[in-house]
Amino acid sequence: MSLIVQKFGGTSVADVEKIKNVARRVAESKKRTDHIVVVVSALGKTTDELVDLAHRVSPVPPEREMDMLLSTGEQISTALLAMALAELGQDAVSMTGQQVEILTDTGHTKAKIRHVGADRVVHELRKGRVVVVAGFQGVTSDGEITTLGRGGSDTTAVAIAAALHADCCEIYTDVDGVFNADPRLVPGARKLEAVSFMEMLEMAATGARVLQSRSVEYARNYGVPLHVRSSFHPGEGTWVKSEDDVMEKAIISAVTHDFSEAKVTVLGVPDQPGVAARLFGMLADANTNVDMIIQNVSDHARTDISFTVPKDDLERVRKVTDEVVRSVGAQGCTYDDDIAKVSLIGAGMRSHPGVAAGMFKTLADNQINIEMISTSPIKISCVVGRGDGEKAVRALHKHFGLDKQ
Ligand code: ASP
Ligand code: MG
Repeated sequence: MSLIVQKFGGTSVADVEKIKNVARRVAESKKRTDHIVVVVSALGKTTDELVDLAHRVSPVPPEREMDMLLSTGEQISTALLAMALAELGQDAVSMTGQQVEILTDTGHTKAKIRHVGADRVVHELRKGRVVVVAGFQGVTSDGEITTLGRGGSDTTAVAIAAALHADCCEIYTDVDGVFNADPRLVPGARKLEAVSFMEMLEMAATGARVLQSRSVEYARNYGVPLHVRSSFHPGEGTWVKSEDDVMEKAIISAVTHDFSEAKVTVLGVPDQPGVAARLFGMLADANTNVDMIIQNVSDHARTDISFTVPKDDLERVRKVTDEVVRSVGAQGCTYDDDIAKVSLIGAGMRSHPGVAAGMFKTLADNQINIEMISTSPIKISCVVGRGDGEKAVRALHKHFGLDKQ
């Protein structure tokens, strides 16, 4: 029995013609595959428009109501796609996250999937139907509608693929696959044939926008192979799979960038146990994802702590840090949203020394000042001024030979 989950993003279903195109592709696949589950995002920029609408009504909308609003986008696209499939003579049924039983925690607007029921999906598949599932949404055990964070349809697709033990999860998108840099910034960017889950996870976490980080985490945990490919032509895209299955092992796989973060520095924090725990505990309670964290050497029993957060969370972060400054007796706080994070990712860096030195030298040769550095075994990230962002990405791509076959 073959079973494939296919996910189509917002740009792939942006208008009626595109919806019909997706329906044709799905119907074609159904001829070759026993069972197909399709997960769709909201049409085009619908989610952005809904977010904008909410903010025109209320500057800080209640998150529960935000989820009620945002989840409507995917309900529209699933129904339309199911209709388009029926029009082609392919029996299909659309389902909401609740109908599928995508159970999540209560973290409104960025909920995490706890369990996927999918009994009804299996039941419908057995009737020969294509099941079209609304991406990005779930339901709590109390019956409250939640959403999974922007780009969350990827995670819906992977979670369903894992629950149904699908052969693979195909992520259809408006680009040809995963590139070793953003082609809009780097003309010589190349499409990757295959990349490991770990590398993709680092890429997604450092700004590559093709896949939501959480979906890659989920795929890795459940061993679901992903195939990121174009929704407009049948060519092969990029496979994301376990490291052992990736044939070509490069030292550096990609350069990524993220221009959406801001840097926060808490100045003159008393150098005592418990202060960092307090600060980051409060940020966690405010449901904020903190990225890089750097604490300086303490001088006169005080130290500075810098970290980065999504620019969109800055208002919430400000409230927390203001309170922390007051309660722990820190000297103040600075905020800088004019930064860029550029990162090098590659599984081969574990066994090849000199990658960090090469990165810093390339930035230095281009007169680019480094404000923060952080590393993982397969990643090096530098924060630089926003004005140097593009230049840094292009220089690193060239220095590490990523423009060559
Ligand atoms: N429609 C949602 C968003 O725009 C989910 C998705 O596209 O995956 O973020
Ligand atoms: Mg999307």
